[in-house]
Amino acid sequence: MGSVNKGLNPLTSIRCVVADHSFSLSELSALTQAFNDERDWSRYHCPRNLAMALSVEASELLELFLWSEDDGPQPPVPGRIEKAREELADVAICLLNLADRMDVDLGQAVVDKLKINGAKYPVEKAKGRMEKSDEL
Ligand SMILES: [Mg+2]
Repeated sequence: MGSVNKGLNPLTSIRCVVADHSFSLSELSALTQAFNDERDWSRYHCPRNLAMALSVEASELLELFLWSEDDGPQPPVPGRIEKAREELADVAICLLNLADRMDVDLGQAVVDKLKINGAKYPVEKAKGRMEKSDEL
């Protein structure tokens, strides 16, 4: 686990670096599925439930940043940094579960969507701007 294939397109070999280890999306998905299988939780993992869980976990992450000041620390309470790390992981786990249940190749989906976004937000129009594509 964790070997880097240098022959892969960097956009299709999205990897998460954790300390001195690196995990591919498929490795993380396999770990997540093994975790679920040990607990017999996959029975609850219909796409609707997983989409709701993803939203809940994203909201738990968002809550940690609630009432931050624009020029203040974010999250506003230093003790929340570790909690934010955990919530990021919860979001990723839910996303992996949902992609798996929907038979979506998440890495390829990200690459495909970046292409769509690139066409929608060409660099010459969008660089340094925050407007939506129809406002550029
Ligand atoms: Mg959570």
